[in-house]
Amino acid sequence: MTASGTQPGSVVFELADFRNCPLIDFTRDENNQKMKEALAGVRERLGREYPIVIGGETKYCETKFQSFNPARKDEVVGVFQQSTPELLDQAIASAVETYQRWSREPVKERVRAVLRISQLIKERRLELAAWMTIEVGKPWAEADADVAEAIDFCEYYARQMLQLAEPAPLPPIEDEDPELRYIPLGVGAVIPPWNFPLAILTGMTIASIVAGNTVVLKPSSDSPTIAAQFFRILEEAELPNGVVQFVTGSGSEIGDPLVADPRIRFIAFTGSREVGTRIYERAARVQPGQIWLKRVIAEMGGKNAVIVDEDCDLDEAVSGVIVSAFGYQGQKCSAGSRAIVLEPVYDLFIERLLERIPELVRAGDLDSADVNFGPVINRRAHESILRYIETGRSEGRLVTGGKAGDPAGYFIDPTVFVDVDPKAIIAQEEIFGPVLSVIGARDFSEALQIANGTQYGLTGALYSRNEARIRRAKDEFHVGNLYINRKCTGALVGVHPFGGFNMSGTDSKAGGPDYLLLFTQAKSISRKKK
Ligand code: NAP
Repeated sequence: MTASGTQPGSVVFELADFRNCPLIDFTRDENNQKMKEALAGVRERLGREYPIVIGGETKYCETKFQSFNPARKDEVVGVFQQSTPELLDQAIASAVETYQRWSREPVKERVRAVLRISQLIKERRLELAAWMTIEVGKPWAEADADVAEAIDFCEYYARQMLQLAEPAPLPPIEDEDPELRYIPLGVGAVIPPWNFPLAILTGMTIASIVAGNTVVLKPSSDSPTIAAQFFRILEEAELPNGVVQFVTGSGSEIGDPLVADPRIRFIAFTGSREVGTRIYERAARVQPGQIWLKRVIAEMGGKNAVIVDEDCDLDEAVSGVIVSAFGYQGQKCSAGSRAIVLEPVYDLFIERLLERIPELVRAGDLDSADVNFGPVINRRAHESILRYIETGRSEGRLVTGGKAGDPAGYFIDPTVFVDVDPKAIIAQEEIFGPVLSVIGARDFSEALQIANGTQYGLTGALYSRNEARIRRAKDEFHVGNLYINRKCTGALVGVHPFGGFNMSGTDSKAGGPDYLLLFTQAKSISRKKK
């Protein structure tokens, strides 16, 4: 597969500087009302069937699967096709064929397509948020932030691509004209998770296609309806057929053959450590007929810590820990699932934490803006989190929560264990639910050691007023995203390029200035002067 790809100097395009999309204020009546209408509109469309789309052609399969509302276990959100191996093969073939054209499409046309997609997402903002509330149990503000992030990814990567297409500044030499082009890679498998079902799916897909690659998009089986809405937007934006194929099906069935296929050039994955490491291993094996080493961009889990120093604003720290731990029911890769608290403020911290949880965490079935705590994603997650809670009973002291909530959905009460050993299972493994472990530290060195003492390294936060300790944290707290005196969730595109160290992933930084390089390869060309 070859491509001329980007041609430096060929892009004439003026865009305003990138700014993050502002969030919707749901305390305003008119916004509140509009979201209620969006939810009602989405409810009327529940239970519809969605096809696989390959090269613009719709395909239906004998075997189907459904996605459900986690707040109302039996409510079917959408019906989807379980792809067959034959369809997967067709999808990859279509992406290979389209690559020959799309990779040669001028950068400005690819950027224009991405900006049209961004515009359509903006126009559907509340509708997309409503789909998220219903399909993956996202509280309104979190769902809106997910849509805003998707818009940000489109706008940011469009601008990054324009920059990448500019002539690279190379040192001059006397008798040659050197240039450096960033050309696309080929066909990518894009495999997103359900927890940022629009933002991450949009980010990985848009980065792929704006750089000139074509894609087989396999959405999470827990959030395929949101993915189908995104795909419809691609169609409405008149993205040429075949640039993205929409292929649904269980990852355990079609994931392996997709990743192993020799025609796949790269895999953009975000999800669990377990699946990410499997993909990494399988992609490394060179298949018969394969003429490249596959690139794997894998963003995985976290066991993130918030360090609470004795010399901090304790109220700020308490609310930061609560929001980090229980925002979106603890189902963020960046969730702060460990609070590491210095001994002088340990007891007071716990006292205030328990006082403030009922005020800051308001559980319900997400039918109003005031509810900010919904269900966990599915039965498997519900059972797994409850098992961790059982484990926690022998590893720490349960001070709140510890049980399932409303049986209509997959609800679990916000749960806190204190006096947890740093090496306990609940302090080491990613639970991906509303479970916080509070761990005491004798001094700041020990707090840092505990914070760094897991296999992960995604996000972390320090609450402190002590400049020397803040400096040490900047040097020694080994995470991809470190926050000082604020929560450890809520990375903003551009402002906080996002991605972790160690078992949290391949150190890519989504929404950062280097991200698109992962979707390109650099070609150095030098012509001798006459
Ligand atoms: P997951 O179970 O690993 O699934 C992620 C994706 O992989 C889904 O589309 C899934 O499809 C697919 N998949 C499953 N088995 C596969 C296989 N053998 N080959 C290829 N693909 C396969 O993760 P999740 O539950 O959706 O998401 C939660 C995890 O994502 C957490 O660990 C969280 O920390 C992590 N995460 C990380 C970041 C980050 O930026 N670092 C961001 C968000 C989430 P099916 O749904 O069909 O199984």
